[in-house]
Amino acid sequence: MTDIRKKHLKIKKKNSTIFLTCIVLIIISIIYGINIINNKQLTNKENKLQKKDNTPTIKEEDTSFEKASKLSYYRKENDTRYRAYRKLNPSLTTEQIVTEVNIGLDNPYYTNDIPVEKLNSQYILVNKYNYLSKDYIPADLQEISSQYSAKNMLYLVSYAKDAFEEMAKAAKQENLTVLAMSTYRSYDYQEQLYNNYVKQDGKENADTYSARPGYSEHQTGLAVDVCNGKESYTNFEVTQEFIWMQENAYKFGFILRFPKDKVRETGYSYESWHYRYVGKEIAEFIHNHNITYEEYYVQNIQK
Ligand SMILES: [Zn+2]
Repeated sequence: MTDIRKKHLKIKKKNSTIFLTCIVLIIISIIYGINIINNKQLTNKENKLQKKDNTPTIKEEDTSFEKASKLSYYRKENDTRYRAYRKLNPSLTTEQIVTEVNIGLDNPYYTNDIPVEKLNSQYILVNKYNYLSKDYIPADLQEISSQYSAKNMLYLVSYAKDAFEEMAKAAKQENLTVLAMSTYRSYDYQEQLYNNYVKQDGKENADTYSARPGYSEHQTGLAVDVCNGKESYTNFEVTQEFIWMQENAYKFGFILRFPKDKVRETGYSYESWHYRYVGKEIAEFIHNHNITYEEYYVQNIQK
């Protein structure tokens, strides 16, 4: 081999090495570039996912409250309270927030309370936020037939009395005994009762089961405590009559007023014996939707 040929071969070898190195570098750059793009895309995706988990942005929050303002029972004057209540109860739906604030549940019981509206009607709502005056006595109280009461002198407003007797009669036809044992109570009588309970159990305990005077549904003449004449009324839950009442009371316009799973909404411990007359239509709706009278009232009656 001549020297020139040797030189040529050396240059050729050098060129191909440079060429190969360049190709390798290009391939490395391409792979590296793709990785960067992929990573960027992943980070974007992650960010998007994270955003989804975070608390709603102001825009989302406003959209949700736009929904609240479209509810028929939304009250503009409560708007600040809705927002504050939602912060404390993020798991509640917009409907629940508006309903519960309208009931008053964002305030402790017996605060922000107002005088009862709809006096002398079956729509009256009395609870720890709505009170009756000392001198309120419902019109047209009538005594319940002794056939259907455990004591004498038990009074309900006439239409509630008629409905109660009709209900007790229907139970009797199935060999069951539904008796009234406490009905209308005056303000003064409730005051005595409540004060006795406070003496006995202390104010905090008494408040869980007894209404303060003016705040008792018994003053409306639309509420009735029942028993079956054998068991104590506080054991009404274990009776056949209770099962019958659960299936039939609403057909006569009565609702179980303080259900077991609604203590927070009503503000009262469960009372299997306490029924309230609201009329057949409302009683059926409440029965079918498993709601309290508080919820029904703020959604359908309160203006
Ligand atoms: Zn009662």
